[in-house]
Amino acid sequence: MGRLFGTSGVRGVVGKQITPQLVMDLGLSLAAQLGNSGTVVVGRDPRTSSDMLEGSLISGLLSGGCEVCRLGVVPTPVVSFAVRMLRAKAGAMITASHNPPEYNGVKLFDASGMAYTPVLEGRIERIYSGRKWRQVNWDEIGAVEELNVLPDYVGTLAGRVQLTKEYKVVVDCGNGAASVVAPLLLREVGCKVISLNAQPDGLFPGRPLEPSPENLTELCRVVRSTEADLGIAHDGDADRVVVVDEKGVVVPGDEILALVAAEHLNREGDKMVTTVDASNVVEEVVGGRGGKVIRTKVGDVSVAVEIRRHEASCGGEPCGAWIFPRFGMAPDGLLGALKVLELLNTSGKRMSELLAPLPDYYMLREKVPCPEDRKAKVMALVSKRLMKEFSEATGVLRVDGIRVNLLDGWVLVRASGTEPYIRVTVEARTPGRAEEILRKATKSVKRLL
Ligand code: MG
Repeated sequence: MGRLFGTSGVRGVVGKQITPQLVMDLGLSLAAQLGNSGTVVVGRDPRTSSDMLEGSLISGLLSGGCEVCRLGVVPTPVVSFAVRMLRAKAGAMITASHNPPEYNGVKLFDASGMAYTPVLEGRIERIYSGRKWRQVNWDEIGAVEELNVLPDYVGTLAGRVQLTKEYKVVVDCGNGAASVVAPLLLREVGCKVISLNAQPDGLFPGRPLEPSPENLTELCRVVRSTEADLGIAHDGDADRVVVVDEKGVVVPGDEILALVAAEHLNREGDKMVTTVDASNVVEEVVGGRGGKVIRTKVGDVSVAVEIRRHEASCGGEPCGAWIFPRFGMAPDGLLGALKVLELLNTSGKRMSELLAPLPDYYMLREKVPCPEDRKAKVMALVSKRLMKEFSEATGVLRVDGIRVNLLDGWVLVRASGTEPYIRVTVEARTPGRAEEILRKATKSVKRLL
């Protein structure tokens, strides 16, 4: 039996890594970790395998003595919301987020609606690998309750946003879980909505699920042709939001995160959390408003953990996973979209006008091939080598790989968690300087191989 949890929860290709048996055993393991009692909220995305895996997961949970509340097809943040609303013991979402249609997986949430941390995943992993679960007697088997929480979710979110203007918004749901709620929610807050790919379809015929600029050309085109104020795109399970300005240009994730976070700080506190790979534009914008930026490991779970530890007002990753702890501890792409509209409304400006004054930064990335068994050694030695190469360094951050801060940029060297590579990311104020830093940094890494 292989390892259950990878870098993004339980995830893999259906029929290969992800089988009905594995997901049922996961259900039994989760039930055991919860003490073989209590309610677990279960949601799923529209993948062709999600129905099947939902059956397996529920079977395991019931057999392990838990009750199940079944939400049907919903975005991942709705599972987190429902766990809190129903005071359930845990939540489970069947999804593979932005991965291609043949993938699927399970993401778990604790009673506070926060994703399972590596510590909690470790507990499940031990139960699972030792098969230390318990199947309850026939007269202790739990029941399934079907529940539609979408009206509560939409009502709660819409109640938090007051827009004084009618915005024309094009929303691209990618045929994913956002389809069941994003257009409705945007109408609920008074927007004029044009929806794209808004029928849930497990083959995802509209576009690939990763909301990257190359996959959003249709959205950009429709924003321009309809003279919309804003374009919004979600990934497959809608825990992420990507924004397109009124000119039909995809807004860099670091920039929109910085603007939304800065707006949030004014009202709710002075700390925000982002990951080591986000642009310095976050410090410039948030710092410019008197806020403090806390840098953490890549991944939305690390962001959530740090938000809680520092009582930060918000946090997020440049990929569009944003967390607003006053609402919940899970990234929520639908709430994110409302925060962007609120930003437009408060400022009275268009999106491109909000972006125009931001400083220019140039980010470059390179993958240096590195065998799995050499990664640890290279990473142990790379720090010294980088410090020698960049003697002008102003600081070093070791929360995830090594990040060397320079007066006019930074370099981040990390071992990939899933592939045989060392990843080098650099940022600078000019393209030329970014290339220079990248050259020096990759040379340092290659020398150790
Ligand atoms: Mg996702």
